Amino acid sequence: MEETPCIKIPFAIGKKIWWTGNGYRTENVVCPECAGYKYVTVIQGNGETYTLDCRCCQLGYDHPLGWIERTIHEHVPTPFIPGRVEISGQHIRYSESGPNATCYSSIDAENLFETEEECAVACEKENKKQAEWEAEREIKNLQGRRKDNAWSVHYWGGIVKRLERELEVTKARLDACGEHKKRGKAKEILEG
Ligand SMILES: [Zn+2]
Repeated sequence: MEETPCIKIPFAIGKKIWWTGNGYRTENVVCPECAGYKYVTVIQGNGETYTLDCRCCQLGYDHPLGWIERTIHEHVPTPFIPGRVEISGQHIRYSESGPNATCYSSIDAENLFETEEECAVACEKENKKQAEWEAEREIKNLQGRRKDNAWSVHYWGGIVKRLERELEVTKARLDACGEHKKRGKAKEILEG
């Protein structure tokens, strides 16, 4: 008789194991760019200074907030009792919901462990990795926002210069009209 093929699942249904947990929460912290003042001063190479709304803690075109939301990564061993298992290709996922539940969330078997100790090691590794990513992301974000500030000064400064030039040209034209009129009057007087 041929043997029925079977797939070995890593954890038994109904037996308590450990999960690395969803691993994050958010926290509001004082803006690292403006220290909560909501504006920054940009000093250009020529010594001119400009005060701008802080782009780091500004969402879209709203007023700056003075604080930013930071993601804190904190995986902690969390008890988990498998209620159902799903196998799709190489992926094995478990859920705590029963096999008849219509709505459930499932966890990758890679994030589940037999013992709390094993799980704690995995949590620590994951937390370290996430903290490095987060620090890198924050630095990139800050650099991007600084570029925005420098760009704003450059952009608006350019518009001010253009308008000043236009104003000069416009005034000069008006003056020229005045001169013509004056000359015209003088001619009229002479002829008269
Ligand atoms: Zn700020």
